[in-house]
Amino acid sequence: MSKTAIITGASKGIGKAAAYKLAENGFIPVINYHTHKAEAEKIACETGGVAICADVSDSTAVNNMIKETIKKTGRIDVLVNNAGISVSGLFMYITPEQEELVWKINVQGTFNCTRSVMPFMINEKSGKIINISSMWGQTGASCEVHYSASKAAIIGFTKALAKELGPSGINVNCIAPGVILTDMNNSYSKETMEALKNETPLERLGKPEDIAEAISFLASEKSSFITGQILGVNGGFII
Ligand code: NAP
Repeated sequence: MSKTAIITGASKGIGKAAAYKLAENGFIPVINYHTHKAEAEKIACETGGVAICADVSDSTAVNNMIKETIKKTGRIDVLVNNAGISVSGLFMYITPEQEELVWKINVQGTFNCTRSVMPFMINEKSGKIINISSMWGQTGASCEVHYSASKAAIIGFTKALAKELGPSGINVNCIAPGVILTDMNNSYSKETMEALKNETPLERLGKPEDIAEAISFLASEKSSFITGQILGVNGGFII
């Protein structure tokens, strides 16, 4: 029976690349999306996966997504907590509504999905949880204070949960990407992107596939003795 990998926020960007990579490795990918239904269904069709709509910040919607996954695939082996948003601007000008949204999606969304898959993984005494943080969660970014704080929370969450779930045979790890060429960075000017590239020792910005490769490794048995770790995939931007 094929293993199942749920990837949140897989309708585009990093999640989409992860869905194709995991399918290539024999997983049935569950393509979670929130607004981009047609894109998610196309990916599901091309990968032999399943597209399921759920706002990760809504725990009822998440529980329904997990129930549907079990109904359609019979198992859950991997959870990639990838769905996320960024909010840019000086800290004092970010509204309470923006603040709540970034926290609800990036942090609460990760908690909701994890809580919902845990009973299945604990029952099997196996599973891989892969959380997507950011290098800004490691080092902090000016004008992205809320985003940086939410991604730092994901690092703390990974380390603590790895200790809690290790005895249940579940690996919990985290990837901290550098600057990756996805829609998330569309608001940056060409000059800013060029400056970020120039600051990267490997002299290029990341592709979604660079992160998908790291996800693929952490989802595989090759990483079976790795847990609680933060894997930087950033071209050397922060070392
Ligand atoms: P992206 O291209 O903007 O894609 C974001 C994905 O998240 C979309 O599939 C979107 O789904 C989904 N999403 C947003 N809100 C959601 C919600 N409430 N419920 C379910 N899904 C939701 O972003 P990306 O660059 O691939 O980012 C993916 C992850 O990597 C994020 O956690 C981000 O913080 C992290 N990251 C990105 C970079 C970078 O430079 N790009 C760097 C470091 C970390 P719909 O479109 O269907 O709504």
